[in-house]
Amino acid sequence: MNEETTRALYERSLSTLVGGVNSPVRAGSQPYPEFVERGEGAHVVDVDGNRYLDYVMGYGPLLLGHDLPDPVREAVDGTVDAGPMYGLSTDLEVELAEFIADHVPSVERLRFVNSGTEATAAAVRLARGATGRDKIVVMQGGYHGGHESFLVEGDAERPRPGSAGVPEAFAEQTIPVPFNDETALADAFERHGDEIAAVITEPLLGNNGIVRPVAGFHDTVRTLCDEYGALFVLDEVITGFRVGGLSCAQGKYDIEPDLTTFAKIVGGGFPVGAIGGRASVMEAFTPTGEVFESGTFNGHPVAMAAGLATLEYAEENDVYEHVNSLSDRLRTGLSEIVADHAPEYAVVGTDSMFKLLFTRDEPADRPDTYPRDGSDVDAGDTERWQRLFRPAMKERGILLPPNQFESQFVSDAHTEADVEQTLEAYKDVLA
Ligand code: PMP
Repeated sequence: MNEETTRALYERSLSTLVGGVNSPVRAGSQPYPEFVERGEGAHVVDVDGNRYLDYVMGYGPLLLGHDLPDPVREAVDGTVDAGPMYGLSTDLEVELAEFIADHVPSVERLRFVNSGTEATAAAVRLARGATGRDKIVVMQGGYHGGHESFLVEGDAERPRPGSAGVPEAFAEQTIPVPFNDETALADAFERHGDEIAAVITEPLLGNNGIVRPVAGFHDTVRTLCDEYGALFVLDEVITGFRVGGLSCAQGKYDIEPDLTTFAKIVGGGFPVGAIGGRASVMEAFTPTGEVFESGTFNGHPVAMAAGLATLEYAEENDVYEHVNSLSDRLRTGLSEIVADHAPEYAVVGTDSMFKLLFTRDEPADRPDTYPRDGSDVDAGDTERWQRLFRPAMKERGILLPPNQFESQFVSDAHTEADVEQTLEAYKDVLA
């Protein structure tokens, strides 16, 4: 594997880009971050000409893979040709909003922003403005982007800043509880019920090794929010239009949030975020209400066109059947491969998300609910995954995200042959 150009580019990038990258996760790839020249279907080709079967898939947005199908490409090209953006409204944002509202019953009104982080930050401000309360409940091991309210560690008793630069005063307003823990959630409401503006959670933990919800957990969130007058914000940035197909994870798991955040797939590979929800709550945003939200690039025409064409393509073709069945095959194949190695490994995921975790002590008595929360994944051998496993897969032509926590994604461009190649590589590496 020749990486001469990659090495040179990385060394050069260190003089102008912080750590040589624009998002820290990319620096997790040792000894150099990947520098991509182009995508080809389910593959990426790096600047040295190495070709990898890609399960990073942009960290989630690329439902259709790296090649835009003709209708998506035409929609994007046509929009670019007309002019990149205007700071004025277009029909595209209305159409994309209608598509989402038509498929996700909890969504009546939307606001388009430019990233998942912006969407969750605005959703929480909206919840605070609408309720007149300051505290939010988050899940330990959940991820909602880099924002002061979410970069908080610790527990309900002792929340603390999760990054330098986050004021203690922000951390004090965030209450972290374990995912899937109804008792901890009820305790938080008992202690702080009249101060809690919102509970924000992903339907499943998608940035922490993939932790699925146990039956009833989201019902409890709904019930407690109703009882105490808080809002339920569901973060579908990863799961939206992936898990549960066009009805999203809230359709699959029967979740009834007040607000939902979207991003990734909704922009068809271009920067996007969105907040959606009931009209009565959403209209607290400016201009109809008092909660400020604004953006030069909000509803960016190219992202709107790409997102709409992507979702229409998924609706008209058997995209979800394809990605889910390949991902099923991967999970089943991986389970067979690691069966002899239990309890050292766990295969996790759902729909087109999958991951093989290096655990240490998967409890044999609850394999269906393992991992149950973020701490189960953190307790695994994450260092070994990163140090040994990831480079070994890359040597065999398979590109996985640089750490044990990030989900792997199957796209419409992946094939059965890709899946077989992947399983062979896993088998080889684990042997
Ligand atoms: N929420 C969730 C659930 C996410 O997975 C992510 C990104 N991985 C974000 C929010 C932040 O989105 P972005 O990176 O687009 O700001």
